[in-house]
Amino acid sequence: MRVSQFFVSTLKEAPAEAELISHKLMLRAGLIKRLGSGLYTWMPLGLRVLRKIENIIREEMNNSGAMEVLMPAIQPAELWQETGRWDVFGLQMLKIKDRHKHDFCFGPTHEEIITDIVRKEIKSYRQLPLNFYQIQTKFRDEIRPRFGVMRAREFVMKDAYSFHTNEDSLMQTYQLMYETYSRIFTRLGLQFRAVSADTGAIGGSGSHEFHVLADSGEDAIAFCPDSDYAANIELASSPTPPQSPSIPDGNMQKIATPGKRTCAEVAEFLKIPLNKTLKTLAVKTNDRIFLLLLRGDHQLNELKVRKIPFLSEFQLANEEDILDETGTVPGFIGPVGLNTCVIADQAVMNMSNFVCGANEEGFHLMHVNFDRDLKLPEYIFDIRNVVTGDASPDGKGTLEICRGIEVGHIFQLRTKYSKIMKATFLDESGCTQHMEMGCYGIGVSRIVAAAIEQNHDEHGIIFPAAIAPFQLAIIPIGLQKNPQVRDIVEKLYQQFLDARIEVLLDDRDERPGVMFADMELIGIPHRIVIGERGLKQSIIEYQGRKDHSPQAIFIDEIFPFIS
Ligand code: ATP
Ligand code: MG
Ligand code: MG
Ligand code: MG
Repeated sequence: MRVSQFFVSTLKEAPAEAELISHKLMLRAGLIKRLGSGLYTWMPLGLRVLRKIENIIREEMNNSGAMEVLMPAIQPAELWQETGRWDVFGLQMLKIKDRHKHDFCFGPTHEEIITDIVRKEIKSYRQLPLNFYQIQTKFRDEIRPRFGVMRAREFVMKDAYSFHTNEDSLMQTYQLMYETYSRIFTRLGLQFRAVSADTGAIGGSGSHEFHVLADSGEDAIAFCPDSDYAANIELASSPTPPQSPSIPDGNMQKIATPGKRTCAEVAEFLKIPLNKTLKTLAVKTNDRIFLLLLRGDHQLNELKVRKIPFLSEFQLANEEDILDETGTVPGFIGPVGLNTCVIADQAVMNMSNFVCGANEEGFHLMHVNFDRDLKLPEYIFDIRNVVTGDASPDGKGTLEICRGIEVGHIFQLRTKYSKIMKATFLDESGCTQHMEMGCYGIGVSRIVAAAIEQNHDEHGIIFPAAIAPFQLAIIPIGLQKNPQVRDIVEKLYQQFLDARIEVLLDDRDERPGVMFADMELIGIPHRIVIGERGLKQSIIEYQGRKDHSPQAIFIDEIFPFIS
């Protein structure tokens, strides 16, 4: 492809509304254009990336035995009314009426549609198991669309739905999907982690999320490097089984007179030096271990706190009572909130009303009612036995916490939809049974942003080779003026095209600095520079996108070197 015939429109500065680096770079590189809140056009360069991701997903899904379908984006209300989700899905669902005043929605997900097909088509156990998938546009009216395609309203999802005669068969496919997802994200060149997760509005029993690891991720995930334990904090902070959000008093001792601990005492409990940087802290009470995950680097003898970023994600009535912008409200080490992990043995509790705090006088776990004025401290729990941050939820090894971007989510739906929608089959003995179901989502368009979050530098995007819009950039210097440059450039360009190497020839005859900057911003993995000076010595300059400096390659060697 020649830049003169391709649409490349780069920007020096990102529009002010872009906060995340991936959003900034996608706009600057001209991969996407904003139409409205959470609505983006994929420009030619961006679409090439999106299609590459789709194709890798498609190949791996096909290899797993799943079959591609394409369902309508617009769905009649009746099916959603049948499962009750028309009312419970909430404001995320965009409802529309046609000219006959019939209700429809723009599908946020497709369980109802595929279950309707399968209940009409499948009669016998002989026809199962089946796994259908599609790569399709979804609409979710997100309360806060942001970060570009990361949290858009209209986005591309790969969603798959499997149907089974029994739980064993479901578990086999679930495992196969887990492995398929691992292969997909590995091929995409991403650092990722699978974690156990909550099933949310989709429902069902077990589920795993796949997270691309990035500090900017909206989710916090806890994992143990020494064991298999890994969980989304949403799960780690939600009750299983459901419990009341407040901790029953019996589990922790409520002290009438606040029992304060000095920093020195806490250090003593922790058996760590006073100025130790705290990240996690396990607190043992009567019969439970609570793991308090403290964000930021908080030193035990230094009780001033910088802003704790995730708190801004909360919609708290009295947020400013807890931390101001600079986090100068003295005394708080870190809140134990939705994004913070508090783990009691294997059972996990919702700690959104708890704040872990400290001031000159001590270290406290407090119950806070965010609807009322913050009364300090309403409850202070006796931290009688504090153990260092080495306990994990499964009792093995240490627990680490990092941020992630949810790019995939797999669910064991079991019979949630098949029972309510009467998706049945006849088993070997002729009895009617409900199908077991699984569903498996990947945020295809979100992956583009996630990949950039993980792969960029001060010059721009560094696309993993598997998803780069082009593999090679040719930058000629003096293309119009120098016939020798033109000859070599045209010859090599054709040679690369013939070899099916995706090459982008920058034939704009711009200043070299402009061409270098654009190709770096766009994130093309390899580039060669062909100019008069080098050609005098039969040399072409090669530089990989991650290389610090170029290397000289003889003209004759450049083709084998690249291909
Ligand atoms: P999130 O927690 O980020 O809101 P979700 O759990 O609601 O995502 P799922 O219902 O699990 O999303 O959908 C499957 C996948 O679709 C997600 O793992 C995510 O990668 C992607 N996805 C969901 N919502 C969006 C969105 N608003 N924009 C882009 N991708 C999204
Ligand atoms: Mg969501
Ligand atoms: Mg989620
Ligand atoms: Mg999810």
